[in-house]
Amino acid sequence: MAVAKTALQIRLPPLPSIKDVIKLYKLRALRELSQNFLMEPRLIDKIVRASGNIQNHTVCEVGPGPGGITRSIIRQAPKKLVLIEKDPRFLPSLELLADACRDKVDVDIITGDILKTDLSQFIPSDAKVHWLDPPPPVHLIGNLPFSVSTILIIRWLEMISKHEGPWLFGRTRMTLTFQKEVAERMAARILDKQRCRLSVMCQSWCTVKYNFDIPGTAFLPKPDVDVGVVTLTPLKHPIIKLPFKLTEKVVRQIFSMRQKYSIRGAQTLFPEEVREEVALKMYNIADIDPVTRPFQITNMEFARLCEAYNDIIKQHPEFEHYDYRAPKNKNNLINAEEVNIECNM
Ligand code: SAM
Repeated sequence: MAVAKTALQIRLPPLPSIKDVIKLYKLRALRELSQNFLMEPRLIDKIVRASGNIQNHTVCEVGPGPGGITRSIIRQAPKKLVLIEKDPRFLPSLELLADACRDKVDVDIITGDILKTDLSQFIPSDAKVHWLDPPPPVHLIGNLPFSVSTILIIRWLEMISKHEGPWLFGRTRMTLTFQKEVAERMAARILDKQRCRLSVMCQSWCTVKYNFDIPGTAFLPKPDVDVGVVTLTPLKHPIIKLPFKLTEKVVRQIFSMRQKYSIRGAQTLFPEEVREEVALKMYNIADIDPVTRPFQITNMEFARLCEAYNDIIKQHPEFEHYDYRAPKNKNNLINAEEVNIECNM
């Protein structure tokens, strides 16, 4: 009979509660750093469990703050833990945790901005696997600051597309929190009212798993919105097999007029004098009905539209750098305003 493997757990010595740590070190939450501390141990453990088995793995935690999630990660016995925290006031409480597990987990505390940190330098080279293999023993976990979460995920998707940073090591998984609305957009399928550019970009490069919600009341201070916990696993083969920037441009323009026929947005990929004719050609090549609305287009159909756009700019390189938003003349400015109002990331 097979014997179930029991996961090794690290027992931390008695530590002050997170509430006491906040009091002890006078860690008043700073709004400018989107500091909302998760106070419920049950939900903290649920986030860490959602990331799967992390025993003996390398975990990078973004924005550990006073260390609630960090404690839960340590208990799961990772081999290495990298903490990236912008606010140096949290150093003493994080050092306390590093000390408490000194002989069991190798903890690196980095005081810095995640948007400027190359995480690959902290990941051991022996963690590397082939891209087509199952994901490597490396995880990114974080209750992300709202102020950087969307920028960060777009930046990480681009790195995934190039197999850079933590994705030099293979299909590194991420379990992250987002404002509920952003998490819903990431996971939204066709016909969903939340479907937008972010949905297509995330789903082209990753499997998006919406794990569960956390009510705003579980945080201190309470944010205005609830939070969604999402796990992203990079796909072996992206759905849209074209450069990230090109894909982003096509998907952004198509969604720029969300409620209109999608070809209206696609027309803005081309200069005014030719846009109706060339956008129609793009839709014909892709075999998509021009009156389809953006949220009715599947990921595979977006792939065909991006391929068709790529064919067109190969034939007409002069269109490649056309930017509808560049204020060249009065006409352009009026149109750009229309795009800004209707654009929904
Ligand atoms: N992990 C803690 C928890 O769950 O209670 C704190 C989460 S709080 C929402 C976000 C954390 O990210 C804060 O500790 C904040 O200081 C940190 N932070 C904000 N901007 C950051 C950035 N650009 N790079 C790294 N950390 C950042």
